[in-house]
Amino acid sequence: MTLQLRGKSLPVVGRARMYVCGITPYDTTHLGHGATFVWIDVAARVLEAGGVTVDLCRNVTDVDDDILEQARKRGVDYRVLGAEQTFRFEEDMRALHCRRPTFEPRSRDFIEEVVALTRGLLAVGAAYEREGNVFFKGSAVEPHLGDLTRDEAIVLAAERGGRPDDPLKDDPLDVPLWQKSMPDEPAWASPWGDGRPGWHAECSAMAMSLLGTSIDVHGGGKDLAFPHHAYESAQSELLTGVAPFARAWMHVGTVFYEGEKMSKSLGNLVYVADLVERWDPAAIRLLLIDRPWYEDWAYEEGLLTAASDRLERLWSQAGKASAGGAPLRRLGGLLGLLWPPGTEASGHADPKGGVSGRAGSRRRRFGPRTGA
Ligand SMILES: [Zn+2]
Repeated sequence: MTLQLRGKSLPVVGRARMYVCGITPYDTTHLGHGATFVWIDVAARVLEAGGVTVDLCRNVTDVDDDILEQARKRGVDYRVLGAEQTFRFEEDMRALHCRRPTFEPRSRDFIEEVVALTRGLLAVGAAYEREGNVFFKGSAVEPHLGDLTRDEAIVLAAERGGRPDDPLKDDPLDVPLWQKSMPDEPAWASPWGDGRPGWHAECSAMAMSLLGTSIDVHGGGKDLAFPHHAYESAQSELLTGVAPFARAWMHVGTVFYEGEKMSKSLGNLVYVADLVERWDPAAIRLLLIDRPWYEDWAYEEGLLTAASDRLERLWSQAGKASAGGAPLRRLGGLLGLLWPPGTEASGHADPKGGVSGRAGSRRRRFGPRTGA
C-alpha cells in the first residue's frame, strides 16, 4: 500500500518498520506525549488496515542526563524512578487505547549495542576518543540540519540539553556517543573506561538492533527533529552506509497550554491520567487526531467538550447508517481508530512485566540484562 504523509507517498510492500522515540521516565504522561503516541498508533493501524504488517518499536530512555538529574533531586535510585514512571506511562497508553508496540526496548538493556556502534563509528573515522568520552564528529550532522543554519543548530543544541561549549569537544556540534560517568552516576565497562551511553546513540542502537538498518516511518515530537533525530540519522547512516536511515518522518505537532509549549521543564502540564478519569478516551483520541498531525495547537478543556459532542454525533450517525453501506464503512473506519476493536481485551496491566521490561508478545522478550 502507499501511505500519504504530508502529500509525500510512502509505498510499503508487506511489512513496515516504525520507530517512535518514547519517554524518559521521570514524570507521568502529558497530553503532548499523548498526541505523539496516539498519532503513531493511528498510523500503524492505517497501515495494517491496508494489509501491511507493522513492526513498531517504542523505546524507553531509562538512562540519560534528565532521568539521572531527577533521581538525584528526589533522592531515589534512577532505576526505581524509571520503573515506576514507565509503569504509569504504560497504564496511560492502555487508557488511551494505544496498542502495545512489537518492541519496547529500554536503553539500559542496549549498552553493548551502543558500545558496538561507538566502535564502528571510531573505525570509520566519524568519532574520536577524549578522556574517557567518545564524541561523534558534528560535521556529519550538517546534511541533516534541514532549514537550520549551523549557528542556529548550535543555539538549539544548547537549549535542548546539549553541551556545545564542552571544552573537551573539537567542534560545538560534536556529541557524545559514550560519556564518562560522574562518581554518582551509573557506569558500564567499555574500551574507553567506565561510562554510559549518549542519548542519540541509544536510539540509533535500539532502532538498528530491532528493526535493521533502515526504518519506514520514524516518529516523535517535533522538538526531537533536531538535535536528536538529526544525529540518530547521521550516526546510523555513517555506520551502515544505508541512507536514508528513516524513509519518512512523523514529527507530531507541539501542544501548547496557557500560552507556552506543554513541557515538563515549564510545568504547564495536563496529564493523560487526569483526563481519562473524566473523559471518554475515544473523545481524547478524537481531539488529538482531529487536525493535521504536524500542526502545533493549543489545548483548552472546551475542546474536549466539543470532541465529546462530535463523538456522540458519530455514534448516532453510525447507528442510523444502513448496514454494509458506504457511510457505515467510512464511519466504522474512523470509529475504529477512536475505539479500536479488542481494546478492552488486550489492555491488561502487568505490574511485574511493566517494571522488568516487556516486549510485544509476538517477538523477543527483553529480560533484564546485567551491566549496571
Ligand atoms: Zn529517540
